[in-house]
Amino acid sequence: MKVLVINCGSSSLKYQVLDMENEELLAKGLVERIGIDGSVIKHEREDGKGFKLQTPMATHKEAIENVFEALLNKESGVLQSMDEIGAVGHRVVHAGEKLTDSTLITDDVIKILEECFDIAPSHNPPNVLGIKACQALMPNTPMVAVFDTAFHSTMPASSYIYAIPYEYYEKYGIRRYGFHGTSHKYVSERAAKMLNIDIKDLKIITCHLGNGASVSAIKSGKCIDTSMGFTPLEGVVMGTRSGGIDPAIIEYIMEKEGLSIEEMLKMLNRKSGVFGISGVSSDFRDLEVAANEGNERAQLALDIFAQKIKGYIGSYLAELDGADVIVFTAGIGENAIGMRAKICSNMENLGIKLDPERNNVRGEETIISAADSKIKILLIPTNEELMIARDTVSVVNAQA
Ligand code: AMP
Repeated sequence: MKVLVINCGSSSLKYQVLDMENEELLAKGLVERIGIDGSVIKHEREDGKGFKLQTPMATHKEAIENVFEALLNKESGVLQSMDEIGAVGHRVVHAGEKLTDSTLITDDVIKILEECFDIAPSHNPPNVLGIKACQALMPNTPMVAVFDTAFHSTMPASSYIYAIPYEYYEKYGIRRYGFHGTSHKYVSERAAKMLNIDIKDLKIITCHLGNGASVSAIKSGKCIDTSMGFTPLEGVVMGTRSGGIDPAIIEYIMEKEGLSIEEMLKMLNRKSGVFGISGVSSDFRDLEVAANEGNERAQLALDIFAQKIKGYIGSYLAELDGADVIVFTAGIGENAIGMRAKICSNMENLGIKLDPERNNVRGEETIISAADSKIKILLIPTNEELMIARDTVSVVNAQA
């Protein structure tokens, strides 16, 4: 079965087509600036052939029409007809508590996703727009939703309940949900395969370190705790997000600076994190250059980021009663050699010892711990699209 994977943001859309007979990627692409001047689609076939086209795309439906044209393109397309697509897998960020596994999209499912709009205002509305646009253009093709929150639904209440009056959980579903679940699930399953050990016998700490970052504790293949919470703002310091802070700071700054709650939340989401600390950039490549040139705040941002990740690793070692594996993934986890070394430094007493030579690698699936490290440290490039395509096939096959 050929599967189209769609990951729809508010003004962007990423797509991939995979042939699931052999899990082969056929083509991928990105549409940016949907609904904004300068809309552009970048399309690339697996053999490198592709194109970049600037053309107005006012809506997500127009963006998806352009994706279809790219996939059918005579020069660099991969399909003769859209009927070759057996199913579409949609990345959906938030499913609340009602949907805890990948599911066939029906009107009832869309209703549940719409109910989550006020707890995931920047993610769920574009996700649903993408689903509806695809449904309009491919009315007979099954669609599957794969949720970022699903993998974390196995967390015990002791991990997801906030210490605020319990009635807010009951009335409004205020609890920790966790995100990046598709990535944490993919890399933990790959880790078990790489080590040739049944995942049921493993305790794994996964560090998804990208522009958004989260750490998860996984026991026997099930998530028992994760660093993100009610929204993706909680947890470690990120590119532009603050991660956990004392909530009293919010009112204090709002009053001093005369900020509205919207402005305050925008600041915490988009102007904080390593960008806010350094004043330089949210990109770790820029921070490393600046720190090497003597920029103290860039260095401070890197130090704080590493310390927060260490903190979660330590916390999860305690929760799991030790771990067998630590996995690094996503943009920073896969590429920032120095940051991985910094995070793993001075943790030998906890059984964590990196091999500096093995660690000198980017974007490859490999073991980077020293031979005598009690805990194996793995580098695993994430592949959320493949995981979405796998779930899509299994949901569709289960209906047949
Ligand atoms: P992601 O959100 O997973 O796409 O990760 C994006 C982030 O990865 C960027 O903002 C950078 O901070 C980081 N990154 C990507 N490549 C490198 C690299 N070669 N060295 C350090 N950090 C990198």
